[in-house]
Amino acid sequence: MANTAEQTRERFTNFTPYEAKKGEEYMSPEMLQHFRGLLMQWRQELMEEVDRTMHHMQEDAANYADPSDRASQEEEFSLELRTRDRERKLIKKIDKTIDRIDKDDYGFCDQCGVEIGIRRLEARPTATLCIDCKTLAEIRERQTGI
Ligand SMILES: [Zn+2]
Repeated sequence: MANTAEQTRERFTNFTPYEAKKGEEYMSPEMLQHFRGLLMQWRQELMEEVDRTMHHMQEDAANYADPSDRASQEEEFSLELRTRDRERKLIKKIDKTIDRIDKDDYGFCDQCGVEIGIRRLEARPTATLCIDCKTLAEIRERQTGI
């Protein structure tokens, strides 16, 4: 079931875009606070989602006795387990990102050191590469087939 709820979970969209004040420096304390809040909220929603998946699976397990139902149910379960695994990984990544914000080490490309940019970070708050380095990394990935 590739529904839209599953897709929105991969990204967090429920926030007000940050409006930098005139002359405000990149990654000012207010800006860091904005991203911290955004990541915390996203994390919270993912945690609730993991909980819901667990409950859903427990309820379903009780409902099917017929073996033919069980086959399709197992398929659904493995899908849900994969989703949950993805969510767990994402939560870990969010934790790491919050840690970097706390250490004032957020918003700059790990590869080349340039500003990743507010809008890109809002679209992908866990990004550690600027768009150029990310694009290069993706091309390299495709070429080596990893
Ligand atoms: Zn870069």
